[in-house]
Amino acid sequence: MMEVRPFSHITPSIISALEKCFLQAAFRADRTIKTFQPPPVRLGTACHALLERVAKGELANQSEEEWLNGLEAIWKDEITKQEAALLVSEQEKHFGRAESWPKYAIQKARVFLKAKKLLSYQRNRSLQTQRDAHLGVEHFYTAFEGRLRGRADVVYESEQGVELIDYKTGNIFDEDEDGERKVKERYRQQLHLYAAMHHDCTGVWPVRGHLVPLTGAPFTIEIDQVETQQLVQSALERMRQFNALVSQKAPIDALANPSFDACQTCNYKAYCPAFWACSHDSSAWGTSAHLEAIVLDLKETRQGDYVVSLQVTAGTLPDGRFILYADRLGDLAVGRRVRLVNVRTQEENASLILKISDYTTIYLQPE
Ligand code: SF4
Repeated sequence: MMEVRPFSHITPSIISALEKCFLQAAFRADRTIKTFQPPPVRLGTACHALLERVAKGELANQSEEEWLNGLEAIWKDEITKQEAALLVSEQEKHFGRAESWPKYAIQKARVFLKAKKLLSYQRNRSLQTQRDAHLGVEHFYTAFEGRLRGRADVVYESEQGVELIDYKTGNIFDEDEDGERKVKERYRQQLHLYAAMHHDCTGVWPVRGHLVPLTGAPFTIEIDQVETQQLVQSALERMRQFNALVSQKAPIDALANPSFDACQTCNYKAYCPAFWACSHDSSAWGTSAHLEAIVLDLKETRQGDYVVSLQVTAGTLPDGRFILYADRLGDLAVGRRVRLVNVRTQEENASLILKISDYTTIYLQPE
């Protein structure tokens, strides 16, 4: 089990984990813990890296005719890194080469489109004024006596003042209880935290921030200075509470907050003892399930898919037997104990069946 240490500093992503669950923040800070990254996540990482490099001006001096070659070269570089990491991972290698990953072609087309818009924006800006030509400079911040750190993707000066850009490769909106579209709270907070760090480091308040998704229009957020200061105070207070618990050598369970809200988006479920010890309300989890099980039987169909019989022993489904349909198995074998994270559930003929999706992780447990 990992050794939990007090934080010397926190970043916006650690802050959003601390809000949900101290143990999640500890996992996130521990670089020895590898999280499984299915192809959709790896594609997102490659897209984000490409946009960052373009924003930093890597293609700024090239002609429009040269952009496509430049984008292809950056894409090849970034996707090759992701593919190489996937192919050496026990949990991921069965997905194979990048070009066969689900939605590879469409994600690549989308990020190229976004990058071309960014390039024409950079070009127009630099033609208009030299002052704006530094669009694309990322900023690393060490603020509040070194306790808050972070990196804004892009910081630039407009006629109104300093503005921030944060690229997002996933959906930037949530739906509230009334079905209304609302920008994700953690993204809104991240922009405010970058604004607070910018102010602490330079004495200048950014006026607004923009979340730029891969698809769809950017979303602009006006910076609220009062709210920003409250956010910083609350983040530093959480850090203090976390450090106090860790210094008292509190057991791991004392850091954990197993609940639907906290665990739903947590990437560390497979490693978290509190998650598997918890008795979950299966109805809260909708059509996704996370389970620990023993493989009882495994058959290949004529179409080359698999039907797996499982004895579920822990997780978000009640204990009992379930049938899992899979188009890939990883290293699943009869008699093995596994943790399956992000399995789809479906009602069929009054019983619940399970399906492996592009996001499903298969973690074999030690024999
Ligand atoms: S799975 Fe839940 S309890 Fe465990 S670290 Fe993640 S959020 Fe915390």
